[in-house]
Amino acid sequence: MQYVSTRGHAATPSFSEILLGGLAPDGGLYLPAEYPQVSRAELDQWRSLSYADLAYEVLRKFATDIPDADLKALTHKTYRADVYCNVRAGENAADITPLRVLEQQDGKKLVLQGLSNGPTLAFKDMAMQLLGNLFEYALARNQAQLNILGATSGDTGSAAEYAMRGKQGIRVFMLSPHKKMSAFQTAQMFSLQDPNIFNIAVEGVFDDCQDIVKAVSNDLGYKAAQKIGTVNSINWARVVAQVVYYFRGYLSATTASDEQVSFTVPSGNFGNICAGHIARMMGLPIAKLVVATNENDVLDEFFRTGIYRVRKSAETYHTSSPSMDISKASNFERFVYDLLGRDSARVKALFHQVDTAGGFDLSGAAGSDGNEFESVIRYGFASGKSTHADRLETIRFAERQYGITVDTHTADGIKVAREHLQPGVTMIVLETALPAKFNETIREALGRDAERPAGFENIEALPQRFEVMAADAARIKQFVAAHTGL
Ligand SMILES: *Cc1c(COP(=O)(O)O)cnc(C)c1O
Repeated sequence: MQYVSTRGHAATPSFSEILLGGLAPDGGLYLPAEYPQVSRAELDQWRSLSYADLAYEVLRKFATDIPDADLKALTHKTYRADVYCNVRAGENAADITPLRVLEQQDGKKLVLQGLSNGPTLAFKDMAMQLLGNLFEYALARNQAQLNILGATSGDTGSAAEYAMRGKQGIRVFMLSPHKKMSAFQTAQMFSLQDPNIFNIAVEGVFDDCQDIVKAVSNDLGYKAAQKIGTVNSINWARVVAQVVYYFRGYLSATTASDEQVSFTVPSGNFGNICAGHIARMMGLPIAKLVVATNENDVLDEFFRTGIYRVRKSAETYHTSSPSMDISKASNFERFVYDLLGRDSARVKALFHQVDTAGGFDLSGAAGSDGNEFESVIRYGFASGKSTHADRLETIRFAERQYGITVDTHTADGIKVAREHLQPGVTMIVLETALPAKFNETIREALGRDAERPAGFENIEALPQRFEVMAADAARIKQFVAAHTGL
């Protein structure tokens, strides 16, 4: 299997060659040269597999340059009941992504797929845990090392740290805005005592952290000398790890492979639902892929109108589902590449226009950049959005009707999913975080605290390990260099 850049760069690297990287050299994103196909017969054979074996079957179609035995060992090391153990009462951790029927009426069925039972209680663990093991494996093969530099306002940073802690050849330097994360998120990250994890609390806001990471990335000499890498959501291996749970969800919700299901996905950077698109392109019988956004509705707007309009910072809202607060969707280019019939010259021109003019218009209206919006429906996409008031209402509704507490992002998903139910097609909502992570809003909705999984009761009281530093790229570069010893 070879990979191509959405912007047409001539090189066609292998899975291992793009594993540790981010963007293609021309600024595009990597996709497989063609999507591997899964037949109905093969799907039926996969029905009884464990999650780890299913992950192996899906991944081996993409990671063709990793020996089968090694890949199987990696998926079994990653997808274990003792890692994804934070399940609700009555759920089985061995399922890794357990399904729960929420409602069933008049042939319409709504099901929740739990993706947030890993160490940081959010779905990013599903991919990041595999990435940690893949990175360690690849680095050991080449006797190399990697120093991950990242900026986080919460979920990504903690998922990365829990995936990379204790890994040979890897260090993590994670910048976060000093005193701006929730007490729970701060405790999750700062209580890690592993010597390869460095928490840097920057005196500034999240954008300052991100600017420092950009400044370091633009210093190519330093980046090469210090072996700096990232783990952001455009990483191809993260996307492909997410493809697996769409197969698992489908197989667990159906009894035969002539049935169709739909998925609703709380979306921000379009990484999660992009994996659903890839599963569908591989032949998984998905009727609809429903994008759920919050007030930051850049994706909902595109899927309603065909207009992609990046938001300015002043139009980007801080909401109670903060992991979906985006101004542009960094994985969206992957879908647009398929939508435009894989015409990389047009993709390159349109995303250049995103940088220079703030967006593009595929609505087909006079003066627009194309009419591909009319084909969106063939790819199964639909969308919807929710507000803070909707989230409060849905959290209360879920407690009353389903007897469970859901987090704010999952509430966005449930609200939008219920608007897209169809008779005869099971709708699966992806649960992207557990409520304990967003307790402030649970309190507001329910007047009580969210339940915490065992082991998280006193997390804020654990000793914390972090450095407070000024928002000064030069100082932070020195700090990193002093700890890599390179
Ligand atoms: C990251 C995240 C999302 C958004 O996922 P994308 O892949 O960026 O679309 C949604 N919910 C939670 C809880 C997240 O952490």
